[in-house]
Amino acid sequence: MPLIETSSSPVVLRLNRDLVRMIKRGHPWVYGDALRELPNAPAGTPAVLLDNRKGQPVARGFYDPGCPVALRICETDPDLKLDDRWAERRLRAAVTLRRLISASGHTTGFRLFNGEGDGLPGLVGDVYADTAVVKLDGEGPIGFWQVDEIAELIARELKLNCVYERQKERGVTGRALFGSEPVRPVTFTEHGLPFTADIVRGQKTGFFLDQRDNRQLIRAWARDASVLNVFSYTGGFSVAAGAGGASQVTSVDIAPAAIEAANHHWRLNGLPESQHTGIPADAFDFLGQSASERRRWDIVILDPPSFAPNRESVPKAMAAYQNVIEAGSRVTAPHGMLAVASCSSHIDLPMFQECCEEGISRARRRGTVVTIAGQPTDHPTPLALPEFRYLKFVLLRLD
Ligand code: SAH
Repeated sequence: MPLIETSSSPVVLRLNRDLVRMIKRGHPWVYGDALRELPNAPAGTPAVLLDNRKGQPVARGFYDPGCPVALRICETDPDLKLDDRWAERRLRAAVTLRRLISASGHTTGFRLFNGEGDGLPGLVGDVYADTAVVKLDGEGPIGFWQVDEIAELIARELKLNCVYERQKERGVTGRALFGSEPVRPVTFTEHGLPFTADIVRGQKTGFFLDQRDNRQLIRAWARDASVLNVFSYTGGFSVAAGAGGASQVTSVDIAPAAIEAANHHWRLNGLPESQHTGIPADAFDFLGQSASERRRWDIVILDPPSFAPNRESVPKAMAAYQNVIEAGSRVTAPHGMLAVASCSSHIDLPMFQECCEEGISRARRRGTVVTIAGQPTDHPTPLALPEFRYLKFVLLRLD
């Protein structure tokens, strides 16, 4: 069995406008309304794209007639056929790009396949020590990528015991593609710190791997500081701060199970229990209450869920970011640090900086940008698709 769908002959699609330059520069998506017609073929069928003028082939990819992005481009050299060798080359290139992370042995949890960013449209894969999780983004990728075969390949290559597929779209949690379904969360390390990921039920694939470098940044700033980690999930930033010598860490998340996991991760890292408080609570309630009690922390971290799931929700999301940043600023100690993150791809960095400015000034504070960061090297993105760099992380010192 091949790694991709090769049993049907490619469907031929033709552009109705001149997008060739954009495509050749590496933009991997063609919307259905840019195609002359949408032929009848199943999602995931390989496709050849012809230009709008002379009908010359310009690229190859796969088809998804039910999706606004009707064609995902895999290859901008139309002479290169999408076959098993092509797929294996792409998959191996992605593995090679992670060598730097995996080689040290300090970090065994990382993203292996980042979809379009690895030239593997719609295919996401994360590794947690001896276990991997794969996720396919929609019907096109589900039809095109043959995940059972991909699981065999990565299991062999990375010596994995289990490859699990998360399948929220298909109404079930998922299934084991290789080995057996893990019965408990998987333990892995991040910069030498042990964590667990519930790959079956956890958010994303079990852990927010995209914040790895930013947690390391907080670790470096945390010595002797009191730290408040709001929207903590399973306490990634909290443990990093503790490992960096924070005097006291408070984790706040609305999900009690996340707080339980944060407490567990604190203990797992051998940190003194008296120095961590996990609080299951609504962030806005907690911040409001703390401000009224005049509580202050040396470092405040705000990493909320995406407030803008689509373009229409951007104004509301901007307001929500401003509110949370204002509330966080009110509990940041004089000369303390405020770290704020946004994972909304519809809000770009200038917009997010505007939210920071507005929120901080409403709290009658002024901020100095210490650094601006984003996603780590295992989350590569196409240069031509800037919105794929969704993560923004701004570290500020408040006056
Ligand atoms: N910083 C985390 C990831 C945060 S994800 C890490 O590094 O792992 C966002 C978290 O916000 C989720 O765990 C979710 O449960 C929590 N959350 C969502 N709405 C919330 C609210 N109103 N108050 C507190 N937590 C909330």
